[in-house]
Order: sequence, then C-alpha cells, then structure tokens
Amino acid sequence: MKAKICIDAGHGGSSSGTYSVNTVRDGLFEKDFALEQALMVEKHLLRNGFGVVMTRRTDINPGNVSKRAEIAAKEKSDFALSIHFNGFGSESANGTEIYVPHGEKQAEIESGFYEVLGGFFKIRSPFARSNNLSDRNEIFDKKLDIGTKKFGAVSEKKDYFGFIRGCWEAGISADLLEICFLTNPEDFEKYSKNREKIAEGIAKSIVTAFGEEFVPEKTAEIPVKPRIKRKFDVIN
Ligand SMILES: [Zn+2]
Repeated sequence: MKAKICIDAGHGGSSSGTYSVNTVRDGLFEKDFALEQALMVEKHLLRNGFGVVMTRRTDINPGNVSKRAEIAAKEKSDFALSIHFNGFGSESANGTEIYVPHGEKQAEIESGFYEVLGGFFKIRSPFARSNNLSDRNEIFDKKLDIGTKKFGAVSEKKDYFGFIRGCWEAGISADLLEICFLTNPEDFEKYSKNREKIAEGIAKSIVTAFGEEFVPEKTAEIPVKPRIKRKFDVIN
C-alpha cells in the first residue's frame, strides 16, 4: 500500500455547519457538501492505491475535533485532511482558505491545493492560526513559495484548529480546507458545477505530493478493434 490518508468530512449528524444559498430549497448544509466531497476524494485515492481512513462515511457526528484527530492518529495516517465549507452573514465573502500547521515547512500538498482551487475560487491565502486568539502574532498568511513548495514562516505556536493541533501532536501533518463560501452565489455555482473536478484535483495534489503519478478516472471504455490493413493504390 502507498501512503495512508485520513479524510475528515467536517461536521455531521446534529452538527450541520453553515448553510448555503440554496439550503431553503434543497435542505443541504455544509455537512452534506463536506461528506460528498470527502467520498469523492476517497474514491480517487483508493483508485490510486492509497490507503484511506474516513472519520465518517454517513451523516453521523463521529465526535469532536480531538476525537477525529485521534482516529487519524490511531490508524497511523501519513497525512490528514479536514474538508469544510465557509459561510458568512454577508453574501459577498468568497474564496478558498487553506489552514496549515504552524510548524509545517513542506508545502507540496498545499501548492497543489492552491493551484487546483485557485482555478475556481479566489485563494484567501494559506493560513496558520494560533490556539490563543488574543495572540496578535498569529500567522494569518503563511507564505507559500510555489516554486520551492515550501512555507516561509514556521513557528512552534499551538494550532487553533483542534483537528490540525491533535494530528500535529500525534506526528501527523494535517490541513483544513474551507473549499469556498456556500453563502456566496458565485462560489456556490462554481462549486456545484465543478465538484467532481475539485475532488479529483484535491486527490491529485495529495497523490503527486507523495511522489506518485496520478491515475485519472477512465471516463469511458473505448473498445479496442483490430487494426485493418488496407492497401491503397497510388494514383498519380
Ligand atoms: Zn465547517
């Protein structure tokens, strides 16, 4: 088996997360979008021979963020990704947020996320957030060098997101993606139209960061016919 990846679909069960521009009509919340995206990413990783640990595969709440990080650690994951979507009272807020551990130096996976999601949404920059919210030295913009695939700023601060913190303390690097704002009409539409491509791009970012060549999904079986040899007369 290649690397083992923990995919955490944010929220679940009674924890609905944010609503979308369409929740009144379709009854779907962040937890539903996160699960759908997580299952699609899982499918691509499995096809590429990766091991996958899912914190949930149905509409349940597997526990708080520490519990979810424990699942990643118990299964000895090589990397963990928590999938979320953003929401805000004002429709105008939009874009992707990539939350990374304060101590992470390597940015191969995040460079992939940056390029894939940047093809659809405004990247609001990779962030590292501290546990102490009153700490004014929080890193809200962790400098990503796409060329070297490394982060510029590294610190030993405690990570704000329990999932990232718990994984990091267990020796696992973890990211939290806020893929886009479900409350922004343009983000919502782009996501709805491209959710398959986004899942494939997320999986591809992980696969290639682990040094493997990504095998895309076959779209259709093309029947192989024997080649017919024909003789042509040369007409002068
Ligand atoms: Zn969330």
